[in-house]
Parts: sequence; structure tokens; C-alpha cells
Amino acid sequence: MPAVTAWHEVADRIWVRRYDPFDVNVTVVAGTHGVLLVDTRTSLHEAAEVRRHLAELPVTAPTAVALTHAHLDHSLGAGAFPGLPLYASRGCRETLTRHGVAERERWLSWLDEEHHAHLRASPIPVPDHLVEARHRIDLGDRDVDLLLLGHGHTDHDLVLHVPDAAAVLAGDLVEVGAPPAFEDAFPFEWPATLARLEALEAEVVVPGHGAPTSQALLSIRRQQHAHLAALCREALGGVRSAASVLVMSPFPEDTTRVALDRAAATTGRRAPDA
Ligand SMILES: [Zn+2]
Repeated sequence: MPAVTAWHEVADRIWVRRYDPFDVNVTVVAGTHGVLLVDTRTSLHEAAEVRRHLAELPVTAPTAVALTHAHLDHSLGAGAFPGLPLYASRGCRETLTRHGVAERERWLSWLDEEHHAHLRASPIPVPDHLVEARHRIDLGDRDVDLLLLGHGHTDHDLVLHVPDAAAVLAGDLVEVGAPPAFEDAFPFEWPATLARLEALEAEVVVPGHGAPTSQALLSIRRQQHAHLAALCREALGGVRSAASVLVMSPFPEDTTRVALDRAAATTGRRAPDA
């Protein structure tokens, strides 16, 4: 179980709650005239639990929902909040529209059978408020900036910045307690995207999974991603073996294998044999 199973106010009127499966974070940002819910868990059933938990907070019901990215552990519960504006990047909507149904089938194999009916009963969300590069949501006495800072964990990661609280919601550009997930990632671009995230100078960083953290972790992650990108570049350039990348990578071997494949795929080259 996640270490935190209740709402945790990580900054002024920003609450985070960690949920299994996947130790995924759901965040609430409240202002005087609006309440934004960020990410929705993996099914309508799980999102219904979030709805019940929202009643524990000293705020009104959500007035808008935002998705950090299309991966179903963040997005598939969105249908539990009908009628609310649903913010996401354009790429997030394209990914959900193109691949959502197939992904939902694929995810069944990663979850216990008790979750299968819940997943199948959850419609693929269709975000109706699309962010192209940046968008500001006015919550009354505070703003939330929705930012696309570049490719990283996916090609459409949305970062939410709450300037008055010096807080960022990083989605899966940053994970805590688990290595980064490279299945849909851009290993060569991820470090620069993290540098842009760091430049926001947030004091509180809410990762997509795991415990909320601080700016210090962004710097560590950026350096780790940059190190791995350099190793991948050398391997694809034929001056380093894939086996040595696995040894020298700052991330676990399985993670690094996926990163190498993605490094090759995103540059149009064949990954060296590991
Ligand atoms: Zn993800």
C-alpha cells in the first residue's frame, strides 16, 4: 500500500492522495472560484472512490478535471466526472482516441481479475479542453498554468504549475519509488524537458506516482536521464556495447533495455543487441 492513504496537503490548498494499484497520485488544486482535479485513476469504479474521498476535503466538488497524460492509470476514471471541462494536451486526446480501446485490453493483463470488469466498463475519455502549448485556468484567487514542456515520458506530457504555491504536478515525467517508464518515452528529449521543469523553480513537486518531493529530485532525475541518453547515443553510434549501457545506466536493467529500444525507435535506428 502507498505510505499515504489520506489526503495530504502538500502546499496551500493542494491535496494529494496516493492510490493503489500503481501508487498513482490524484491531486486537487482549490481556489476561491474553482476546484481542479488532476488525474482520475484506472476505472470509473476507482474514480467513484475518489469522488467519495473528495467529500473529506474542505472544498466544493471539482469544477474541472485535467489529465497529465493518456496512460490509463491516470485517465480512465475521467468518465466519473461527466459534464465537467476535461483538460488535456491535444496529443493526449489523439493517443486516447487512436489507442485507448486497444490499451484498455492490454492493461487487463497487468491487473488482477477483480479489476477487469471495471476497466471494461470505463469509457475511453475524450478531453474537450485541449492545451496546445500552454493554458491558464483561473480558479479565482489563483491560477494554474497547464504547460507542454517537451517530450519525455510521452509525446504529450502535461505539467501543471501553481505559481503562488511554487508547486508543480509533473505527471510521469517524474516518478518516486519506481524507475521512469520508457515504453512511450523519448530518452534523448527527456533531460531537456526536465530542465524546463526545473526552471519553474517549484518547491513542491508532485510526481505521477509515489510520494510528493522537492526540486532536488528534478535535478537528480535530469542528470540521470542525461547520463542514460549519452550512453544510448554512444551505443547507437557503435562506440559502446549495449551490455555496457545496461551496466552503467543509472536505472535498472529492464528499464534501460526499454530505454535503449525507444532511443533507437525515436532516432530511426536499430537498437544494438544487449
Ligand atoms: Zn505514464
